[in-house]
Amino acid sequence: MFKKDEARKIGSGKAKDIYELDGDIVFVFTDRTTAFDGLKKAEFAHKGEVCCRLSTRYFKLLEDNGILTHFIAFIPPDAMRVKKVEIVPIEVICRNFLTGSLWRRYNEGSAKLPPGTEPVEHSPIDGGMVEFTTKFEERDRPVELDEIVDKGWLTRDEIEEVTTLTRKINEILKEDLEEKGIVLADFKVEYGREGDRIVLADEVGTPDGCRFWDLEAFNRGEYVSLDKDVFREGKGDLSKTYVRLYERVTGEKL
Ligand code: ADP
Ligand code: MG
Repeated sequence: MFKKDEARKIGSGKAKDIYELDGDIVFVFTDRTTAFDGLKKAEFAHKGEVCCRLSTRYFKLLEDNGILTHFIAFIPPDAMRVKKVEIVPIEVICRNFLTGSLWRRYNEGSAKLPPGTEPVEHSPIDGGMVEFTTKFEERDRPVELDEIVDKGWLTRDEIEEVTTLTRKINEILKEDLEEKGIVLADFKVEYGREGDRIVLADEVGTPDGCRFWDLEAFNRGEYVSLDKDVFREGKGDLSKTYVRLYERVTGEKL
């Protein structure tokens, strides 16, 4: 159990409360839920705990596969100690299917599809696609590589490094989830600087930051969401969705 009165609260994001403890960061994953750049808000029981436990699971799996992360320790039931890093002010998105904001942007005429991608919702993006959006702006927007370099957010070499890392994370998550009958449609990650190294930060493998579809339904041509789209699109009870997802991924009761 994390003792909040022994740490200093330094902020709160849309979903997590942020504390400082002996030079490290402690995140408390709350039940706060937001969508559409914070315009839609609610609270759902168990959401924080599910996201914290799943993030822990996937930080460990990624570390085991040689990926550097900010993870230090899980503090049951809903907190996590991490190394303090300087967050790179962009979100890195990896897509295996044409859906979400890419599908919307394509229909608005503001996005091109990767070569070979059929312009039909839910069609697969062969080999995956990595793209970038802003992080600390009122409304997150896609950014081109030139702007990322011009603003000094990442060098060209770092963009390549982050792209390679994100693709590796995609492969590791995809394989683990597929064993549980879950399709990883897309996900978002954040990176930070720890000294001169770039490490995976924030959270990973959670239904807040990933789009998950049920594989059995997918094989029948149906798209059953196991993630925050249930909230975005008002498709059902988010608490139940998250708890069921947790139990399915880990084989354990929450
Ligand atoms: P947001 O509203 O930006 O999504 P969250 O509720 O997810 O915020 O809270 C986490 C915040 O902490 C984010 O702004 C994220 O960029 C930042 N962050 C993530 N990992 C670290 C870290 N290791 N050190 C410092 N800040 C971090
Ligand atoms: Mg966040």
